[in-house]
Amino acid sequence: MGADLNLLHPYVKYLCLKHIAACAAKGLKIMVTDTYRSIAEQAKVYAQGRTTPGPIISNAEPGWSMHNYHLAYDIAIVNPDGKTINWSDICDTDHDGIKDYYEAGAIGESIGLVWGGHFKNITDKPHYQWTNGLSIEELRAGRLPTNPLDQKATVVPAPATPVVKPEPTPAIKTKVVTSSSGLFVREKADKNSRSIFLMNCGSKVEILGTSGIWDKIKFGTIIGWACNTYLK
Ligand SMILES: [Zn+2]
Repeated sequence: MGADLNLLHPYVKYLCLKHIAACAAKGLKIMVTDTYRSIAEQAKVYAQGRTTPGPIISNAEPGWSMHNYHLAYDIAIVNPDGKTINWSDICDTDHDGIKDYYEAGAIGESIGLVWGGHFKNITDKPHYQWTNGLSIEELRAGRLPTNPLDQKATVVPAPATPVVKPEPTPAIKTKVVTSSSGLFVREKADKNSRSIFLMNCGSKVEILGTSGIWDKIKFGTIIGWACNTYLK
C-alpha cells in the first residue's frame, strides 16, 4: 500500500494531480492516502473487521477493487495546520459552508472521476476511480483502459523524419514501451508478482535479459521484469 502516484494508470495520475490542484484552488487541501494495492494487500484490507481487528474498510475481495488495477485512489482532507488529517465526513475546514469530502467529491466528478460518495452499495467518500467505462469483470479479464492523452497525441501527424546516418550499433540493447496504457515493471517474471512501477507508452528501456514473454529491464534506476509483448 502507499500513496505513490507513479503506481497509478498514467491517466488516473493525470486526473489525480488535476483534482489536487482544483481542490487547492478552492482552498481545500487534500492528500492521497492510497493508490495501488496488490492482491495480497487487498486481502489484508478485506480481512480487517472480518478476521482481523479494526473496522471494516473495504467490501472488495482481492481482485475486485479498482485499486488492484491502478485505477483508484483514496484521499483525506488535510486540516489548515497542513499536517494533520481530518477524517470527519462533515468537516468544513475552509469554512465555505460545504462539507469538504462532498466538495472534493463534486470537484472530482467535474473533471471526469467516479466518486465513491455516490456508490450505491456502500458509500466510500475518500475513494475516486476512473476506468473509462470498463467493468471490474473486463479488468479481471486483463483489459486496461487506454490513455486518452496518448490517443490525442496519435492524431497529430508526425513530422517528416529527417534522413540520419545510421549510428554505430550500441552495445546496450534497448526497446520501447508500445502499450498505450503503459507497462508494469514487476518484481519477478510473473504477471501476479508485485508491480513496482508503471512506465508510460514510449518509455525507452534497457534489456538485461529475456525469459519467455518476460524481459528483464532497466528503466532509470528501476530494474525488474516487463512483458515483452509490449516492448519493441
Ligand atoms: Zn478506495
